[in-house]
Amino acid sequence: MLKFFNTLSRQVEEFQPIESGKVRMYICGPTVWNFAHIGNFRTFIFGDVLRRYLKFKGFELTHVMNLTDIDDRIINEAAARNISIDEFTEPFAQYFLEDFDALGNERPEIIPRATHHIAEMIDIISTLLDNGHAYESDGSIYYRITAFPEYGKLSKINFSGNRDGGSERIDTDKYDKEDARDFALWKLVGPDDQPGWDAPFGRGRPGWHIECSAMAMKYLGETFDLHAGGQDLQFPHHENEIAQSEGATGKQFAKYWIHSEFLKIDDVTMSKSKGNFFTFRDLKDQGYSPLAIRYLLLSVPYRKQLNFTFEGLQGAESTTERLRNFRSLVKESSGTGEEKDAVELVMIALKKFETAMDDDMNTAAALAAVHDMVREVNTVIAERSLSNDEKEAVLDAVSQFDAVLGIFGAETSEILDNDIENLIEDRQQARANRDFARSDEIRDLLAEQGIVLEDTKDGVRWKRK
Ligand code: AMP
Ligand code: ZN
Repeated sequence: MLKFFNTLSRQVEEFQPIESGKVRMYICGPTVWNFAHIGNFRTFIFGDVLRRYLKFKGFELTHVMNLTDIDDRIINEAAARNISIDEFTEPFAQYFLEDFDALGNERPEIIPRATHHIAEMIDIISTLLDNGHAYESDGSIYYRITAFPEYGKLSKINFSGNRDGGSERIDTDKYDKEDARDFALWKLVGPDDQPGWDAPFGRGRPGWHIECSAMAMKYLGETFDLHAGGQDLQFPHHENEIAQSEGATGKQFAKYWIHSEFLKIDDVTMSKSKGNFFTFRDLKDQGYSPLAIRYLLLSVPYRKQLNFTFEGLQGAESTTERLRNFRSLVKESSGTGEEKDAVELVMIALKKFETAMDDDMNTAAALAAVHDMVREVNTVIAERSLSNDEKEAVLDAVSQFDAVLGIFGAETSEILDNDIENLIEDRQQARANRDFARSDEIRDLLAEQGIVLEDTKDGVRWKRK
């Protein structure tokens, strides 16, 4: 039974979509004003694993991830370069998607851009003005929090008796608002200011929160199953999305809210503003593989903080290499005989994997099931070749694990240099153990791949035929 910790109830709940067999999910996407850092990608990889696991469980999925292509930073950066916001954001949207793909994430079904949904935002704001949930002040439109008594139900922040700036994140210097907690839905701009859009309530540009309400409801309906994002979005962003959407429709917005924890570095949250970040590109330029970065970022369950270290990343490199080698080794195993021991091991591992993932996506326990299987099947392979049934069962399990985690890497028909060197090391080890059958098996396996070994006084050399 699949369970998630629902931020709305602060409880682990059984997941039951509104429509049987179908899941509608919204995950807040990036602001495309710069290169995304690996903290951002921890959240997007969590979203990808969530996506893939829902599919693994047999759900049909509509997954929306927006691109925020308008906010104050974007406007300022574009103005400083004397270009339009589209010209400024377009390359960053492309870089983001390139990095997103390179890290093995599946593209969501719908990737809408905020600036393409201004009409939908205007509609919601008009409804909120009509029903008293919004008001105009000095030309801008604000959300009236006192009109939504449930405000705070997600973040559980107690606002009572604290109406003027209970949280430091509330903008207390805006005296044109009725209440310090009220937030902008639409910001007034001058007739010639760019960017700006005409609306019945005046020319302006949207606030950040309204973007996600508009795009989520357009593609997923007024009520949908699952809304996720990083922990920092819980308040005020998601609280405000709920207030806007439910204030406009009178219906529940999202049924389950899932928030992922931060990536830290030296125990400080990784962020652009603190300057303590690595982008995916920084690490790739240093020679780290996308697969290892992905492995590291998903290896800790999403509700636990993860502290980034280069030792951890190095460890992830060795682990992903071991997984890849394992798959090659199984593929090369001869596939004769009738044995079934490994089939049994695989069934146990798959069960453990699913139990772990069902338990609020415990990726650490799921990985432990994968590694247990790898170790146990390796023990079998050290003694004999796998039977055909065993080989099929192991390769099928690997592809099932990988459909969810994406950590084994693309299947290449060509054996990689690293794999060769590892196999040579295994052969040396086998020889040292006087396990000549195994050492011959490795030599034959490499020969099949066109790799010739030459024993020299300086050690083993290899070359491709
Ligand atoms: P942004 O582009 O700033 O809107 O952020 C995109 C996503 O990255 C949001 O869901 C944030 O919650 C998330 N995020 C930002 N910093 C971190 C971090 N250090 N660790 C994990 N997620 C983060
Ligand atoms: Zn959002």
